[in-house]
Amino acid sequence: MNPSQWFTEQAPKVESAFSLKIKRKLHEEQSEFQKLEIYETESFGNLMVIDGCTMVSTRDNFFYHEMVSHPVLFSHPDPQRVWIIGGGDCGTLREVLKHPNVRQAIQIDIDERVTRLSEIYFPELCESNNDPRAELKFIDGIQWVKNAAPGSVDIIIVDSTDPAGPAEGLFSKAFYQDCCKCLSEHGMIVQQSESALYYLDLIGEMRGEMALAGFQHLQTLFFPQCIYPSGWWSATIACKGNQPVFREQDAVNKPFDTVYYNAEIHQASLAQPEFFKKALAAK
Ligand code: SAM
Repeated sequence: MNPSQWFTEQAPKVESAFSLKIKRKLHEEQSEFQKLEIYETESFGNLMVIDGCTMVSTRDNFFYHEMVSHPVLFSHPDPQRVWIIGGGDCGTLREVLKHPNVRQAIQIDIDERVTRLSEIYFPELCESNNDPRAELKFIDGIQWVKNAAPGSVDIIIVDSTDPAGPAEGLFSKAFYQDCCKCLSEHGMIVQQSESALYYLDLIGEMRGEMALAGFQHLQTLFFPQCIYPSGWWSATIACKGNQPVFREQDAVNKPFDTVYYNAEIHQASLAQPEFFKKALAAK
């Protein structure tokens, strides 16, 4: 086996790795913020890698993009204004704009190059970028929430890289306090929260920072994501005010197609594994 035909992401903390057989490298650059690579793979379509970590593949991105969008949007009573912090591949934006009650969706990614490369190599994820409700900003999400007016958004989706480099501050109490201030009365935040199998401590710390910032009713939901370490990913929802109420009938009658998400998946994703419950109880 020729190792040069494989892309491998190592998870050094757990001495494991994930590999995809590649046909060729389509692009590589060092942007102002991070190293960006695009591969054509044998069986997963195109693959985007940032700083050596898998981000998006053509074949399996729907799990992540649907699960960071639809559960939180169907848990808010009337989500009209949505911000996506990160999300430069535009797949989350596309899912958010499927909701007819959304009248404004702003994607705030620090790195314009991620979006420009997605337009070339993942055009299907960018198909809603010209929707009149969509706005694309290329600035630091931390600064964006710091400077935003109180109560100016209903849902914040943090679709970021791992907590290192430019994304490190997106997992801090200070950032969550700024998010809490920007959210309206029933406001909710959801953030990708890594693998519960590999990075349980990180999820615990993140939930702790969210609670210290004033968020309540935290819910971590689980879904498969084969290109991410351990193949099993999570997102954590937190509320500024009341307990979230799942608009189940709206999910059942959703006026758009999904590949993975539906009302049953929504409920099932909120079931908490025993080891996770024990870890939370021990905090
Ligand atoms: N689904 C992916 C995952 O969980 O690995 C995330 C994909 S998305 C491409 C991540 C984006 O977060 C990148 O485009 C990166 O530029 C952006 N990002 C990182 N730090 C940021 C910050 N401080 N403000 C805004 N965007 C940021």
